[in-house]
Amino acid sequence: MRLYEHQAREILQGYVTCIPKSSTIFKPEEAEEAFLKLGQPRAVIKAQVLTGGRGKAGGVKIVNSPAEAKDFAKRLLGSRLVTPQTTPEGEEVKALLFQEVISIQRELYLAFLIDRQRACSLLVGCGEGGVEIEELARKAPEKVLKDPWDSLQGLLPFQARRTAYFMGLSGSYLKEAASLILGLSRAFIEKELTLLEINPLAVTSEGSLSILDVKANFDDNAFFRHQEMVAIRPRAEESLEALASSFGLSYVGLEGNIGCLVNGAGLAMATNDIIRVCGGKPANFLDVGGDASTERVTQAFSILLRDPRLRAVLVNIFGGITRCDTIAKAILEVLKDTPLRIPMILRMEGTNALEARKMLEGSGLPFRFSREMKEATLLAIEAAEIKE
Ligand code: GDP
Ligand code: MN
Repeated sequence: MRLYEHQAREILQGYVTCIPKSSTIFKPEEAEEAFLKLGQPRAVIKAQVLTGGRGKAGGVKIVNSPAEAKDFAKRLLGSRLVTPQTTPEGEEVKALLFQEVISIQRELYLAFLIDRQRACSLLVGCGEGGVEIEELARKAPEKVLKDPWDSLQGLLPFQARRTAYFMGLSGSYLKEAASLILGLSRAFIEKELTLLEINPLAVTSEGSLSILDVKANFDDNAFFRHQEMVAIRPRAEESLEALASSFGLSYVGLEGNIGCLVNGAGLAMATNDIIRVCGGKPANFLDVGGDASTERVTQAFSILLRDPRLRAVLVNIFGGITRCDTIAKAILEVLKDTPLRIPMILRMEGTNALEARKMLEGSGLPFRFSREMKEATLLAIEAAEIKE
């Protein structure tokens, strides 16, 4: 689960002390009060979306009065923010963070992540943070320090100091940064995050450090240990992912237009791959499970069809424990209530494949069949490319 910045700031409380004062609003009418509550002549307003690059996209602004705050809030709330990291449709802004303005002398970069290849945690530090970090990491990788560490042992104090030193800090800054880095490493472990990124970490004109932006991802497998994360989990009606997960289905939305209904994670990944290899774009990863019941498949298929970007559906089932006629039954069940508006290509092999095909053909609906995965994929890509 990706956390909104305001949620990520919240979970860092108790681990670090240098997070500037802020509050979050959800309606434009709350803007003036939020501005006044900060008690400063200016405020930074930041769009709360689950993506980076907001600064470059007009999602971060310094305002000088309650009226200006309200104007900006009116304009931004409910609009869609398109950043270099979103799809062209962007992401709807549902909340704004109001923060006291910090005067920045230097911007630094810090991140904690999991290095899956080395099977350890990674501390990443850079002396040049801010909105150009991706560019810098590409052009001058030697300016970025990546320090592996063991999550069971915890980050060691000398590692925190080494990174702070590498970032160009010295004297009291070095000490402050080292303790900040250790605090963050504890939050990373205890809150079971898979990513914790501070960009920028600012050296302020007042001579201290300040966390100006936090990005955090929580490991979904750890929900059972974290009531505080369950409390902020998106509700089922807010995202297809959350809806699917409430039925125990693995659904991951992608940016393409071919909906995939597949059984088994391996086949689901192979299906996503072959669509890409053949030049198409999958709209999702969806594994209905190795032993899918009619009910699960019904839920999976109706979730899939809710995606407004779909131009074609590709069903790729290998009937082993799951029987193809179970899948066919579920598909017909859903299509009773939801008319099929887009082409649907089915490749079903294995247990009861013939029965399934007879049932589907008998329905009179315009399904297309193929017994070959590649052929089915090409049909789906072709169908998705035909504009209405
Ligand atoms: P991002 O673009 O989505 O990463 O959003 P950030 O929260 O990092 O904000 C983008 C940029 O706005 C930062 O890199 C800062 O340069 C600037 N910014 C954010 N907060 C402040 C602040 O309190 N004071 C000043 N002067 N600049 C800020
Ligand atoms: Mn940032």
